[in-house]
Parts: sequence; structure tokens; C-alpha cells
Amino acid sequence: MGGSPVAAVIPAAGSGSRMAAAVPKQFMELNGHPLLDWTLAAIARADEIGSIILVVPPGDLPHMAEKYVGNPRWPKVARAVAGGATRAESVYNGVRAAGAEWILAHDAARPFVTPALVRRTVEAALRHGAATAALPAHDTLKTRDGDFLGETLDRAAVLHIQTPQVFRAADLLAAHEKLRHEGKEWTDETSLLQQAGIKVAWVPGEAANMKITTPDDFRLAQVMAERSPFVKGPARV
Ligand code: C5P
Repeated sequence: MGGSPVAAVIPAAGSGSRMAAAVPKQFMELNGHPLLDWTLAAIARADEIGSIILVVPPGDLPHMAEKYVGNPRWPKVARAVAGGATRAESVYNGVRAAGAEWILAHDAARPFVTPALVRRTVEAALRHGAATAALPAHDTLKTRDGDFLGETLDRAAVLHIQTPQVFRAADLLAAHEKLRHEGKEWTDETSLLQQAGIKVAWVPGEAANMKITTPDDFRLAQVMAERSPFVKGPARV
């Protein structure tokens, strides 16, 4: 790859309110392992990733740091930091703590990311400046007009944006500080970078790289987890 490796920032500081469970979804178990462990193991298996910054709910920081940082089972997890009130603030805190030129942000809630998808996204970002995984739309897409349908969209012109998303740390920090100052909001880092005038390339994502948001998603993920063994990455220091 040349140059310094990419630091992965994993936002895992959400409350999981749409899951309506007793614990946030990142701590729920998928086939005997916490959802977060599936995500961390997959990201750690990617050779492009040199270190991992875990972003966790402030109240969980002490025991999460104790569990993952400096643990030989998780040699790439370099730091755990407290998240913010929004996903954007959580990623920002992670990027500031990472101290790397290139960042890969990946939702803790997408446990079936693959090393191949990490590689595709990193390679596109190094070539184009910033990149995300995305899926072309296959359903017919319409706007919504209350209880009725609105306009039909051109699905060939629409993408479902996933993570991983790879960008320069300096671009993210500058864009975040500028747009926050202007009172703007965004739901992912590509939206932030685009609002700051940065072009973002896309690579084909994977249907299995779903974001687990609702109890239905979790039931589907449980079936998927039962069919794919939990693989701990090679130990790398
Ligand atoms: O809420 P959403 O599904 O968009 O969350 C995506 C990811 O961002 C999840 O992994 C969640 O834990 C994380 N998140 C965060 N800090 C927040 C809200 C969400 O790290 N304040």
C-alpha cells in the first residue's frame, strides 16, 4: 500500500433505541459473541488496517478500555474514547484520537464487513481522495407523500450508502469544524465531506454488510451468524 497504514474508527456509542433492548445493540450477542466483536474481528483481519480506535458510550469507557485495549486478543485496538451525542460527534472524537493520515470509519452495527470490502474501499480512497462502500438500488423507489406515494425516482441514479468510508483525517476534521460552526447536520461522513466540497468515490458494497438497526435486522443477523463461523484475526502487533 505504501505510506502509513489506515486507522479504523469504529463508532459504537449509540444507545440502540430502535432496537428496544435492555442493552445497546453493539453489546448484544450474535451466535455467542458480542456484535461488536464480530465487527472488530473482521476489521482487524484486513491488512490495510494498522490500528483501531473504538468509540463507546461515556459510561462504558472504563470497562470497554479494560476489555479491548492492551489485550493480546485484540492487538490492533489501540485506544477507546468516549463518543458524543450524535454519530458524527462520535466519529469526530475517534478521528481526533487516531493520529493517522488516513481513516476508515465503519459502523459497529455492521458486523459482516469483509476484509475484501475494506481493501476495495481503501484502494479507491487512496486513488480518489475519499471513498465509500455503496449498493445500487434494485427496488422501485418513490418519494413519500404522507400515507400516499409521491414521485417515482430514477433508481439507476440512486445508491444505498454503507460503511466502510475512507478519507483523510485532516479533511474530516476541517469539514466537521466548519459545518458544525454553520449549524449544519449530516448522517454520515460522505455527506459531511461532500458539503465541504470534497468528491467521494464509491465501490460496490455487499448486501451482507447490513446495518443492524431493528429487532428484525437482528433476527436476520442471528441466522447469518449461525452459518458463518466467528473468525478471530491473525495476531498482529
Ligand atoms: O444510529 P445509527 O444506526 O446511525 O448508528 C450507526 C453507528 O453509529 C452505530 O454503530 C452506533 O453505535 C454509532 N453511534 C455512535 N454515537 C452516537 C450514535 C450512534 O457511535 N451518538
